[in-house]
Amino acid sequence: MRADIRGLQAYPVAHAEGCIKLDAMECPYPLPPALRDAVAAAIAHSDLTRYPGDNAALRARVRQAFDVPEAAGLVFGNGSDELIHLLVQACCAPGDVVLSPWPSFVYFDMAARFDHARFVGVPLTPALELDLPALLDAIAREQPRLVFLALPNNPTGGLWSDDAVRAVLAAAPGLVVVDEAYQPFAGHTWMPEVLAHPNLVVLRTVSKIGLAGLRFGYLASHPAWTAELDKVRPPYNIGVHTQAALDVLLAHKDVLDDMAARLRADREPLARALAALPGVTVFPSSGNFLLLRTDRGADAVQAALAGRRILVRNVSRFHPLLTDCLRVSIGAPDENAALLAALTDILSA
Ligand code: PMP
Repeated sequence: MRADIRGLQAYPVAHAEGCIKLDAMECPYPLPPALRDAVAAAIAHSDLTRYPGDNAALRARVRQAFDVPEAAGLVFGNGSDELIHLLVQACCAPGDVVLSPWPSFVYFDMAARFDHARFVGVPLTPALELDLPALLDAIAREQPRLVFLALPNNPTGGLWSDDAVRAVLAAAPGLVVVDEAYQPFAGHTWMPEVLAHPNLVVLRTVSKIGLAGLRFGYLASHPAWTAELDKVRPPYNIGVHTQAALDVLLAHKDVLDDMAARLRADREPLARALAALPGVTVFPSSGNFLLLRTDRGADAVQAALAGRRILVRNVSRFHPLLTDCLRVSIGAPDENAALLAALTDILSA
């Protein structure tokens, strides 16, 4: 085993049985029973004996469901994680730089390391805003092959301005990947402009809109780039069950949109209620989650929540800018109420 791999930690997956799960930005709402039945029927009829075929029909379905411009190229991934890694594999020789504002999604850094690229994280400001001058300086200095911009950013929730993204697109010598994993909660997208900028890649996932278990992400960009990325894609990476399920689910995308709209509507009331708790600061969020800081110590608060079977993500050791920060997903109303009641109790003790 490579020494640098031995020094890494595997991506954490919490044991969640019987818990209120607010640690991974999943959608808390189950799919309607009729839709689940339709998915089950589609899966039952899929052919398990053969490798998945060319998914032209699914491509058309995805294009239509998510407003991907007709002339843009598309690549599918087993989750958008796979596409992040694929971008590094296709673009970076050993030592090449992958750059992102930081802290952001941890897998940008992990994927870079896997392929001997050098990850450069450009610190956000203490208020967890984008430091655009520092980012542009770093781009000029490091000449990154890839820049990742999570819009909105995970785990902070911020949405960088259009002007900032345009400045990065103009300054970057390589591809700029706008990772729109939380786009359905922000109401803002770069997808219509994907062909207007020669170095823009838009990355999406269905994980946050109710389908985290499916493992499906997609990437849109100029077809010249997707043709190259497709060469690196593992063969048959989207299984027949995923294809069959998606075909049914995307025909009912309004169901997924409604669930996302409910979470989005619940975000500000939850943020206000959390901010009213003693010693809690809540950062502005455009995602389906909130980042909060507690003056009681993130470890203690997380442990006390876990004792009440409420799982949140403790990000306080991820980066000094996140000291004493916890990230909580927006849950269903009863889950949000349980979180608030537990925190009220814990923080007043
Ligand atoms: N991008 C960002 C910014 C994320 O936060 C996540 C999930 N944590 C992903 C991509 C990966 O999503 P998935 O692999 O489930 O599609």
